[in-house]
Amino acid sequence: MSFYENAKKMLAKSAEIIKLEQGIYEQLKKCTKTLIVSVPIKMDDGSIKVFDGYRVQHNTARGPGKGGLRFHPNVTLDEVRALAMLMTWKCAVVNLPLGGAKGGITCNPNELSVNEIERLTRRYTSAIIDLIGPEKDIPAPDINTSKREMGWIMDTYSMNVGATTLGVVTGKPVEMGGSLGRETATGTGLYFILEEIAKKLDIDLKNATIAIQGFGNVGSSFALRLYEEKVGKVIAVSDLKGGIYNPDGINCKELFEYAKRNKGVSNFKGTKNITNEELLTLDCDFLVPAAIEGQITEKIAPNVKAKVIIEGANGPTVSAADDILNKKGIVIVPDILANAGGVIVSYFEWVQDLHSFFWDLERVQSELKRLLKKSFNDVWEISKKYNTNLRMAAYILGVSRVADAMKMRGLFP
Ligand code: NAD
Repeated sequence: MSFYENAKKMLAKSAEIIKLEQGIYEQLKKCTKTLIVSVPIKMDDGSIKVFDGYRVQHNTARGPGKGGLRFHPNVTLDEVRALAMLMTWKCAVVNLPLGGAKGGITCNPNELSVNEIERLTRRYTSAIIDLIGPEKDIPAPDINTSKREMGWIMDTYSMNVGATTLGVVTGKPVEMGGSLGRETATGTGLYFILEEIAKKLDIDLKNATIAIQGFGNVGSSFALRLYEEKVGKVIAVSDLKGGIYNPDGINCKELFEYAKRNKGVSNFKGTKNITNEELLTLDCDFLVPAAIEGQITEKIAPNVKAKVIIEGANGPTVSAADDILNKKGIVIVPDILANAGGVIVSYFEWVQDLHSFFWDLERVQSELKRLLKKSFNDVWEISKKYNTNLRMAAYILGVSRVADAMKMRGLFP
């Protein structure tokens, strides 16, 4: 089943539970706007290469579209649509006045120079310029994009419209309208979620064992927060090239510096190299997939031994695996709740940009904690009320809020 089919299946299941009106359901199954662009750039050797780019808005009933921009060889329209739909529910679950969108370019940034990536980002921005804007759709970083690309998007948009427009994109450098705390927001949010679920399940965090798949923005900022708070024991970490394991715990601060220097976590001192599959099936309290979608498959799920899964990545668990894990009694905090820290602080950045008034880090972090804690507890209560798991509870909350906004707005014309 494709990622988008998977996402639509979750919508269908939640629609049935909340008895969603047929007309609303028919609209929510589709993405409202889909733009496919070809992005030609001049390569450093003088040749011209053409890349495929996408920007999709799934639903904007609650506010402008919001969603990341991904640079990856596996980016497809199907994937971008699925991720845009997840963004709609995510923004609604944490009650932001934003809709769901996503973008991507099918490319391998590891094979491109910095100048080529800059030309690609700027040409793509120009190509989708009619769709984006502070009141329409606001991109943000995702896999293989960071504050650098967001800065180029802001500059390109501003050059095209003739005015510096801070609020067109979030995750920018702090020097040009970015928010303090945005870069680490998703990992910080995962940490707040970890605290909440541990309280509910009565798990002692001090000695909890944690395995993290993916050591990019999300995985590493989560690991560093654990290190700072002296919470738990990270026994395994992985990236695209493979993982490392030490049952006595890994020093994530040293690992962060090591991974930067060596472009990966493999062969870190005092650890044993393991595969990503081995990491996902380790005996631990918390498993945090923070890499890419489709990692916990039907084949892997029966061997997962973690007590709790906190989904840092978007869509890390395929639908069939989800059923297996639920039957095994493994508690899953779903992506649309667990990794919402990123979009929450993106929202704060957008608000700060529109006001040209900037917050200190304490305010950003305390507002983030307050919002995530409230959302987690809302989802927890719904799961009790409907006697369902946290993923379904989050969908019930997200889909209901979007449906309510659509009903109140009515159907144009
Ligand atoms: P990133 O590019 O910074 O890091 C991705 C990490 O995953 C890298 O360590 C990479 O080596 C690893 N990885 C990639 N493919 C892998 C594979 N097949 N097996 C094992 N490891 C693999 O990306 P990121 O921003 O950290 O995003 C990670 C996930 O979190 C994505 O699913 C993204 O959509 C989601 N997410 C990101 C944000 C954000 O603010 N950046 C917010 C919400 C959700």
